[in-house]
Amino acid sequence: MSENNPFEIAQRQLDECARILNLDDSIRDILRVPMREIHVSIPVRMDNGNFRVFKGFRVQYNNARGPMKGGIRFHPDETIDTVKALAAWMTWKTSIVDVPLGGGKGGVICNPKEMSDGELERLSRAYIQSISEVVGPEKDVPAPDVYTTPQIMAWMMDEFSKIYQKNQFGLITGKPLELGGSAGRGDATARGGCYTIREAANYLGIDLKGATVAIQGFGNAGHFAASLVSSLFGCKVVAVSDSKGGIMDENGLAVEAVIKHKVKTGSVVGFPNSKPISNIELLELDVDLLIPSALENVITSDNASNIKAKIICELANGPTTPEADEILYNNGIHVIPDFLANAGGVTVSYFEMVQNFYMYYWEEALVHERLDKKMTSAYHATLHASNKYNVNMRKAAYVVAVERVVKAMQLRGRI
Ligand code: GLU
Repeated sequence: MSENNPFEIAQRQLDECARILNLDDSIRDILRVPMREIHVSIPVRMDNGNFRVFKGFRVQYNNARGPMKGGIRFHPDETIDTVKALAAWMTWKTSIVDVPLGGGKGGVICNPKEMSDGELERLSRAYIQSISEVVGPEKDVPAPDVYTTPQIMAWMMDEFSKIYQKNQFGLITGKPLELGGSAGRGDATARGGCYTIREAANYLGIDLKGATVAIQGFGNAGHFAASLVSSLFGCKVVAVSDSKGGIMDENGLAVEAVIKHKVKTGSVVGFPNSKPISNIELLELDVDLLIPSALENVITSDNASNIKAKIICELANGPTTPEADEILYNNGIHVIPDFLANAGGVTVSYFEMVQNFYMYYWEEALVHERLDKKMTSAYHATLHASNKYNVNMRKAAYVVAVERVVKAMQLRGRI
C-alpha cells in the first residue's frame, strides 16, 4: 500500500466510508472499481512531419445517477491510476452537489507546454475521435481539467460534430461562450469553493475580511480563487505559487497585477516587490486559509503536522493523503474536501449541459445564484453528516455522496 497512489487512496477512502455506513461488502466491491476503462494510442503528426504516438485514457466510473461526467487532463505525469482515482472522485462529486450525473475522467500523457497550437489541436481532435464511440451528450460528457482549455473543448466538439454530421454542443462542457459555453463556467470551480469557504467561516466564527490566504497553483482554479477571495470577502492573499515557484508579500499581493504578470511572463515568479517562496514553504505558512489548487499529494504525513491554516479549501483533486487527513483532523483544521470544495466546476458544467439541451442561455447572475444554492446545500449536508457520525469532513462527504449512488443503484435493480 503506498501513501501516494491516487487510486489506492480513492479505494481506501471508499473502504472507510463503507465501514461507517455498514455497507455490504459486495456493494463496496462494485463501487471500488470503474465500470469501464478505455486505453487508446493516438498517432499525431508533429510539426516536423513525423508521427508521435500519445497514450490516452477515458475511465467511466459509474453512471447510476446519470451520464458519466468529468474532465480531460493533458499532463506529462498522467497515469491510468490517476485517471481512475479522478473518475471515482467525479462520481462522488456529482453526487454531493446532487446533479443528475455519474463520474468519469480522461487523460492524455503529453506536455502541452512543449507543443505548438497545431500539434495540440491535432492531438485534441485525434483523442476525441479515438473515444468517440463511448462519449456523447447522453453517455459521457468530458470537460476541461489540468492544462486543457475552452479552445481544446471547442476543437473536440467540432471533431465530434463532424463524425455525427451535426452540431453536438452537448458533447463537452467548458466550451467558449460563442460555442454553447455557459456564462460563469470560467471561474465556477473557484467561485463554488468560495461559497463553501463562506459557509465554513460562518460555522467556525472566522471573519473573512482581512483573513490571510495562501494559494498553491495558479491555473484554471487557483488564479480565480485569488481574485474571488479578495473581491467577494476582502481577504488578503499573502502568497501564491505555480509549477515554477511561489511569491509572498505579508501586506497582501495585488492579485490582478499578479495575474497580468503571469500572463506576460508565464509564471507568478519574479512579481515586483514580492519575496520568493517555495511551494513547500507556502503550504506551511501561518495563514487563515490555505487553498491547494494544483495537483495530488501535496499534503502528506511529511508536512501535515506543520500546517497552520484554520481552513483548507481543496480546489485541487486529491491534494491530501489519508495519513495527512488524520493529522489535520487531530489538529482541529477544518478541511473542505476536494470533491465538495471543487464541485462548482461540474455544477456549472451541468448547467451548461441543460442550456445546450434546451438551447436557451442564462444570465451570469442566475448561474451564480444557482451555483451558490447547490454548493451551500452540499456543504451543509456534509457538515451535518460530519457532526452526526463524528467524522472529518472528507469522510462525511463520502457518506452523503456514496449513499446517494447506492440508492440509485438499488432503485435501478443493479444491486
Ligand atoms: N475537471 C473538473 C473537475 O475535476 C470539472 C469536471 C466537469 O466539469 O465535468 O471537477
